[in-house]
Amino acid sequence: VGERLYLGMDFGTSGARYALIDKQGTIHAEGKREYPQFLREERMDWPLSWKTTLFSLLEDVPVHLRPLIASISLDGTSATTLIIDSNTGEPLARPYLYNESCPDALPLVKSIAPVNHTVCSGSSTLCKLVSWWNNDNSDKKSAILLHQADWLLWLLHGQLGVSDYNNALKVGYDPELDSYPAWLLSQPYSRLLPIVKAPGTSIGHLTEDIKTQFGFPEDCVVCTGTTDSIAAFLAARATKPGKAVTSLGSTLAIKLLSTTRIEDARYGVYSHRLDDKWLVGGASNTGGAVLKEIFTDGQLEKLSEHINPMEASPLDYYPLKSVGERFPVADPKMEPRLHPRPESDVEYLHGILESIARIEAKAYILLKDLGATQVDEVFTAGGGAKNEKWTKIRERILGLPVTRATQTEAAYGAALLALKGAQIPI
Ligand code: ADP
Repeated sequence: VGERLYLGMDFGTSGARYALIDKQGTIHAEGKREYPQFLREERMDWPLSWKTTLFSLLEDVPVHLRPLIASISLDGTSATTLIIDSNTGEPLARPYLYNESCPDALPLVKSIAPVNHTVCSGSSTLCKLVSWWNNDNSDKKSAILLHQADWLLWLLHGQLGVSDYNNALKVGYDPELDSYPAWLLSQPYSRLLPIVKAPGTSIGHLTEDIKTQFGFPEDCVVCTGTTDSIAAFLAARATKPGKAVTSLGSTLAIKLLSTTRIEDARYGVYSHRLDDKWLVGGASNTGGAVLKEIFTDGQLEKLSEHINPMEASPLDYYPLKSVGERFPVADPKMEPRLHPRPESDVEYLHGILESIARIEAKAYILLKDLGATQVDEVFTAGGGAKNEKWTKIRERILGLPVTRATQTEAAYGAALLALKGAQIPI
């Protein structure tokens, strides 16, 4: 018998991936699948597409490694919501996608939830639930709510009605109390809510059907998951308070592990629980999307070679794709600032990279001011992570060690949750 392995899957916005790791974190296999198109009444049948993708990924796992798998976990997009018939596990309505908004439910949700609570946004899971409750005429007696990850995990373990406190945050679960709050439990639709466990908790064994179909071992367990962006943070293995991940993709997003929980609706800052710590996050509208409008990836690479990162750029920009910023400055009317443009493109790029670095530094200072643990090391993910000159500029401006995260795939983070879940027997 070989070493035991741990399987993680990520169901992101554009496709799904898997990563198979051992207990040291070494990857033994990985792969990805696009979501296939299935239509139902002329609309995309997402549940069928996700389900098909789940089984495609399981088939992609090399046959000789499957008998070694000790546990499985997966993540899905945050606030992607399904209303399920608890007798069959089949969706009672089409799913509500992560970015879908249900403004019709907002007044009611605002009337029951505390001011500025995470659920007070049209795209929150709770707004989706309330909208369904008020508009759908189907039989509600056997209905239950599941997040995308919960439902996909159910296909593997067969126990309906289990979620995790990361996915459940946007339906109103209180991760500090470790229960649903009283204002939610007093609502008639609260009986649809799933029970909640910590991410990476074993729920049960794989169903017999799946074990035999794919050749997974008898003792293989299925563990609660998380959301896709938390899984991506977990991948970087920033496990101590003060460690942070800056994601330099189309936008700039930062996530910091803190011993304290902070929330500030003005800046869109909120915290997810991770066992005995808090994952504090905020997202700025600046980032790579602005770079992409001005330079090709090839130009970015070439021009960066000529930047001296030890020299401060005198140019002070606020790169935005459109009007409005939320974090670290809450100003919906903020105008993009990318002028004056110097003759030299090297100087221009230097100015932009340095300006984004100053926004990043300001973001970490704001989190500290709001009460989070002081950042002491930054790992970088996203397209900007490969730019070594930018890393050096950021080190100088942040005054901290900055390195590229070794692992950034959410599927790897999900595999770490599977590993965590396997260490505590059911
Ligand atoms: P997304 O958020 O869309 O997933 P990615 O993480 O794929 O984004 O990052 C893409 C971004 O990275 C683009 O906006 C691009 O401008 C930026 N980028 C690509 N190469 C470089 C580079 N060498 N230096 C800085 N930024 C880069």
